[in-house]
Amino acid sequence: MTNPLFDSLFAPLEQRSKGLLRLANGARLSGTEVFGQIQRAMAALAEAGVKPGDRVAVQIEKSPAALAVYAATLGMGAVFLPLNTAYTAEEVHYFLNDARPRLTLCDPTRAAGLAPLCAAFGGALATLDAAGKGSFAELGLGHLPPPVVPRAGQDLAAILYTSGTTGRSKGAMLTQDNLLSNARALAGLWRFTDQDVLLHALPIFHTHGLFVATNVALLSGGEMIFLPGFDIDSVLRLMPEATAMMGVPTFYTRLLDDPRFTAERAAGIRVFISGSAPLLPETHQQFRERTGQAILERYGMTETNMNTSNPYDGDRRAGAVGFALPGTELRLMTDEGPAAPGAVGVIEVRGRNVFAGYWNMPEKTAEELRPDGWFITGDLGRIDTEGYLHIVGRQKDMVISGGFNIYPVEIEALLDEGPGVLESAVIGLPHPDFGEAVFAVLVGRKGEDVDPVAALESLQGRLARFKQPKAAVVVTALPRNAMGKVQKAELRRLYASWFVK
Ligand code: AMP
Repeated sequence: MTNPLFDSLFAPLEQRSKGLLRLANGARLSGTEVFGQIQRAMAALAEAGVKPGDRVAVQIEKSPAALAVYAATLGMGAVFLPLNTAYTAEEVHYFLNDARPRLTLCDPTRAAGLAPLCAAFGGALATLDAAGKGSFAELGLGHLPPPVVPRAGQDLAAILYTSGTTGRSKGAMLTQDNLLSNARALAGLWRFTDQDVLLHALPIFHTHGLFVATNVALLSGGEMIFLPGFDIDSVLRLMPEATAMMGVPTFYTRLLDDPRFTAERAAGIRVFISGSAPLLPETHQQFRERTGQAILERYGMTETNMNTSNPYDGDRRAGAVGFALPGTELRLMTDEGPAAPGAVGVIEVRGRNVFAGYWNMPEKTAEELRPDGWFITGDLGRIDTEGYLHIVGRQKDMVISGGFNIYPVEIEALLDEGPGVLESAVIGLPHPDFGEAVFAVLVGRKGEDVDPVAALESLQGRLARFKQPKAAVVVTALPRNAMGKVQKAELRRLYASWFVK
């Protein structure tokens, strides 16, 4: 193989007359058609002066053209750097300054804001809109596509900036081998074949939509229903055409909120997969009651691709993220060494899926990636007697109150069972006596009132006193990012002075 990732995911499209993408407007694109777009994008990248190892930053809407840019960047031996479309120009400045891409692609509406910065470090800027129009499309006109550039497994394929929910965003460097080995492991485990049609409503600037969903579908030769976002009407309309769906938990709660989502509508889907944020056991349960199907939950992160998955056959357990993927090792560590059986520890993983380090941040890399290859995820986990991993929270979310370590997930699970409670977020807030005090933010079910006092009283006798929240508030919704993760830092900021008036 000359360029393992390109050769496995995209080269086969050249000969593939069968469909690859189905779009929301009913249009269908064959593999050959998409391959043509990839070749035009490669010609445009060459014209823009992109060389092997250069970064190509993109902040563009999800579209076939955007997929072609991803493929073409890999084909050129360059490094794909997708940016969340919600980032403001000011935020994008940070990433561009850090990564110094040879070329930045943006929507035409954003070009004026980014041009001065790109000019300052000598990078080119071109535009590409969701319809595939813009200066980038014109760059390659009349030029032959250059040949695919050979790459080795350890060469960089992408840099993905972490969502930065707990600190400064870091650029995770992912190699060809990281991505290809993970796509192979997942496609095998989840039984993807060329008969599959994946309902793809995730963004492609994040590991979930870009690598888990897209790479797995491409590797197995299946089709994708490629939607620009999660629009409930389109998702429900197109679901009967699909055989698999991947989503964040909010996709599944939104489906359950809609009476049009029925067992009949879901019947053609052989597997619903969830990840990127915890799936509430209640959602798992409701989904099973509505459709007769068990959502398959998996766990991963930008730095490591996917690490664990519930089994395809066998018990897909609510509240658990399953077992280590083939080729990935997993362990739980405490300050004193490996966690005792059943005890909570920091999840560490090792394997071909684990990234090469943080771009421009050797100290951060050294803090989190051990010399022997173990990556310290910062997630807290527990392994049950049957070997299933349970995520207990983030290390940085752990509350230390009066010297005791408290894991919010345990408290959230009990609060969620309370009368009228849909979901909850437990955080630690500064407290004059305890250092930190446990605080609960509750969301009620539609049309139901939640009494915060009663919610806290329901914990009596079920949870040690020191773990019980000292106060609770009720809100209409929890702050979430694009991947459905609860923004606990935002909650801590909002309620920072609750106990220290
Ligand atoms: P990201 O790098 O944006 O994909 O975020 C990765 C983080 O999301 C992980 O470190 C976990 O904290 C969280 N996460 C991903 N999948 C799950 C899951 N199935 N359950 C709970 N947390 C998850």
